[in-house]
Amino acid sequence: MEKIFWTDPYQTELIATVTSVNGNVLTLDKTIFYAFAGGQESDRGVIHGFKVLKAEKKYDKEIYYTLEDGHDLKPGDEVIIEIDWSRRYRLMRLHFAAEIILELVYQYFNRPEKLGAHIAEDKARLDFAWEGSISRIFPLLEHKANELIAADIPVKSEFCDVDDERRYWEIDGFGTVSCGGTHIRRTGEIGPITLKRNNIGKGKERIEIYLSQ
Ligand SMILES: [Zn+2]
Repeated sequence: MEKIFWTDPYQTELIATVTSVNGNVLTLDKTIFYAFAGGQESDRGVIHGFKVLKAEKKYDKEIYYTLEDGHDLKPGDEVIIEIDWSRRYRLMRLHFAAEIILELVYQYFNRPEKLGAHIAEDKARLDFAWEGSISRIFPLLEHKANELIAADIPVKSEFCDVDDERRYWEIDGFGTVSCGGTHIRRTGEIGPITLKRNNIGKGKERIEIYLSQ
């Protein structure tokens, strides 16, 4: 399955061929429809006009799409995939905002243990093992992140291993990080961000990231 969401993360429609059908679950020869991975939520959208209820990666590189009831698709059929672009673009912008914040935390604060990460449409979050309130580092994080965003720097996204589908992003002079998510092309697309603290347990701190536009 060719993953066009990597080669062109800005594509919103694609014609693909059905490769297998098992009840309401199907696979395709190529796709633009991202399935939950690395904390980034799945896309929403339709395949051949049918709502996709679930997109999931299981044990292999295949993505399995569960459609709503009523389709009569069979292997070999050509279908149009359409994704909810306003949602995907917010996910991409928040995802990269989280990448920048994580990299800044690592670079300036001695690589604390990351406990989790999640990218939703309204906000992104990063959880760390951290004593005391993490909000004390917010002025530096917000300043550095918003500086990088305002500079509108190109973001390179490439494979480091094509067969294994391992990818990375890189910003010259800032960082190189492994990630299989969908990435924006320039930091300026994110727009100004703000941070909010959430204490999620003893010695556990959460950074919530919000877009201002
Ligand atoms: Zn990423």
